[in-house]
Amino acid sequence: MKVLISGASVAGPVLAYWLDRYGVETTVVERTPALRHGLGGHAVDLFGPATDVVQRMGLWDEITASRTMIEELTIERSGGRPVHVDLGRLYAGMSDQHVEILRGELTRILSAADPSEYLFGDSITSLTDDGAGVDVTFERSEPRRFDLVIGADGMHSNVRRLAFGPEESMRRHLGGYLAVYSLPNLFDLGTRMLTHQSVNRLVGTYSVRQTGQSRAMFLFRTATELEYDHRDKDQQKRLLAKEFRDYGWRVPQLLEHLEAADDFYFDAIAQITLDTWQRGRIGLVGDAGYCPAPAVGGGTSLAVATAYILAGELAAHGPAGLRSYELKVRRMVDLSRAIGPKVMGTIIPGGPAALRLLPLAASVVPKLPTPVQRFIWSQNAVGKALGSTPLPDYSALTKSPSPGSPANPVQSGGPGATPAP
Ligand SMILES: Cc1cc2nc3c(=O)[nH]c(=O)nc-3n(C[C@H](O)[C@H](O)[C@H](O)COP(=O)(O)OP(=O)(O)OC[C@H]3O[C@@H](n4cnc5c(N)ncnc54)[C@H](O)[C@@H]3O)c2cc1C
Repeated sequence: MKVLISGASVAGPVLAYWLDRYGVETTVVERTPALRHGLGGHAVDLFGPATDVVQRMGLWDEITASRTMIEELTIERSGGRPVHVDLGRLYAGMSDQHVEILRGELTRILSAADPSEYLFGDSITSLTDDGAGVDVTFERSEPRRFDLVIGADGMHSNVRRLAFGPEESMRRHLGGYLAVYSLPNLFDLGTRMLTHQSVNRLVGTYSVRQTGQSRAMFLFRTATELEYDHRDKDQQKRLLAKEFRDYGWRVPQLLEHLEAADDFYFDAIAQITLDTWQRGRIGLVGDAGYCPAPAVGGGTSLAVATAYILAGELAAHGPAGLRSYELKVRRMVDLSRAIGPKVMGTIIPGGPAALRLLPLAASVVPKLPTPVQRFIWSQNAVGKALGSTPLPDYSALTKSPSPGSPANPVQSGGPGATPAP
């Protein structure tokens, strides 16, 4: 079986790695000119089953060695005293395994373990599924035929657009926006993340220990949907500056570095609401199929766990595995969709009562006995979603015995590495 995967971030490399272990010939096509690795991108979390998957890949030690090491959180807010939270204790109490890592670092580690063929700087232009295979054309590479094509190309998935239709019809806007960019480490933050909340606004900044820089993060809610051009970064920067021009706190210092930021990211906090992730021989995994909303939905863990299950189901059942994968991950996906709206209400408070909630919970929970913390976590939406589907054991399908062969991916099409946006 020959499988083409579009997207080499989180779901793509995990899927490719496991397909390779099961003896499936895999090609990954990635739009960026080289791997989005290194120290760019935002911090993401691996929880529960996602940590099991990376352990089964033999990558746990490497991933934990590259973690962000943000150990403390300070929450400041309008009209309240600052709250200091011991994040190490909070996470240790909630779950046995959790790691926070920059997405670019995670991608680097995942894809270095995957010996599949990678086509960089390219993108699929058409998919023709004739029932026996899929004919694929690319922007740059020669046309090829595959048994299956999987979209692991994120919230604005190209494969989804080509095979399932335009994004607008399957996108649920949760009413908020998110912006992230790099800047000098203005506040000498060390291992501390500094945030400030007010009604409908959250601003945060944390340092990136490997670069000596820091990241600024803005989450905000608006009464009506903003209109902007998705490709026009300058327009988005102006929009952000306008939204926060009167905010006060440390925002003026953060905004001074906005114009110069070359890794600026801006997007709506939205979910993908498709209820099937299969069209014939074309499938979707991770954010492409069921993005639970960036930054508020546990999307990285969902992408890792579901990519592992998809690989196992395809290896076990061939193309019919697309259907069994869908049945297996549906509950995890459905429960994950409930997370974003709830988390939004807590971290971007809609009113004065909600403004008191996060600092209160974040300061009280780490002081509770571990069993109580574990119980709270198990009742929490992320814990429930990720714990809802036990990871199947596909080890009998494995063709290559040793975990995580560190072969470099074959690269074509593009010079050097690009930082993750
Ligand atoms: C600012 C921000 C903060 C976040 N914080 C967290 C967090 O704290 N915790 C958490 O769990 N999650 C967080 N997330 C969400 C997390 O990043 C995603 O859920 C996760 O990366 C999904 O992985 P994926 O592989 O499915 O998709 P993505 O990571 O989006 O990767 C898609 C890949 O496809 C590639 N691609 C796109 N178009 C094409 C094309 N036409 N052809 C080929 N390749 C293409 C992209 O370049 C990219 O490499 C955050 C997201 C953002 C944006």
